[in-house]
Amino acid sequence: GSSAECYRRRHEISVSGDNVPPPLTTFEATGFPSEILREVHHAGFSAPTPIQAQSWPIALQGRDIVAIAKTGSGKTLGYLIPGFMHLKRRHNNPQLGPTVLVLSPTRELATQIQEEAVKFGKSSKLSCTCLYGGAPKVHQLRDLDRGTDIVVATPGRLNDIIEMKRVSLHQVSYLVLDEADRMLDMGFEPQIRKIVKEVPTRRQTLMYTATWPKEVRKIAADLLVNPVQVNIGNVD
Ligand code: ADP
Ligand code: MG
Repeated sequence: GSSAECYRRRHEISVSGDNVPPPLTTFEATGFPSEILREVHHAGFSAPTPIQAQSWPIALQGRDIVAIAKTGSGKTLGYLIPGFMHLKRRHNNPQLGPTVLVLSPTRELATQIQEEAVKFGKSSKLSCTCLYGGAPKVHQLRDLDRGTDIVVATPGRLNDIIEMKRVSLHQVSYLVLDEADRMLDMGFEPQIRKIVKEVPTRRQTLMYTATWPKEVRKIAADLLVNPVQVNIGNVD
């Protein structure tokens, strides 16, 4: 078979969708700008992980994705770097609200995503704000007021801030639901649906999940448009 098929077989990748692009198996093949490549080499990474190799070219085409892969497979950079590329192509005004929005189930995960975004996005001069509960709103609101390209948020806190009218999502055009299965397990579905109502329908939507139960399929069917599905390993 083709080298794409070989790589997929070797790394237990299965894909479904129209004209799925071949995996990008080296960092150089991604065409990412040199400042990003410098960061990944600086981090000591030698090659994209399978989820990155397969989801990057799909995300870079501007298509919706649902990616099913277990924890520790490198999903964060799988959606963050294409998010950076998305931002580069837009003339967004950070003062009008975020362009990239990442929803995450917990404060700890949101903080980790924020750290990854700061580390890999710094050289591209991207700003990122993290919103989560269990902490005073004052610093988070101040960060938003300074203007931000990216928001990483837990659904509960973001919803509170939307209701206070302290953030606008009308500029969001790249929406990520990370750990979608966990967010649903934690009962965040109503908040997620309220948040998504504030985001324009003309957008790219990426969903990452470790499992693929009925509830996750349902929300994927409601929020994504003609997504490419990528599975890594034996997750069903
Ligand atoms: P997941 O979200 O799938 O659980 P993470 O995105 O948190 O996984 O990544 C797990 C770890 O792997 C992190 O420490 C991250 O920095 C690291 N990592 C990400 N991409 C690569 C890569 N291409 N090569 C080596 N390590 C990587
Ligand atoms: Mg993750």
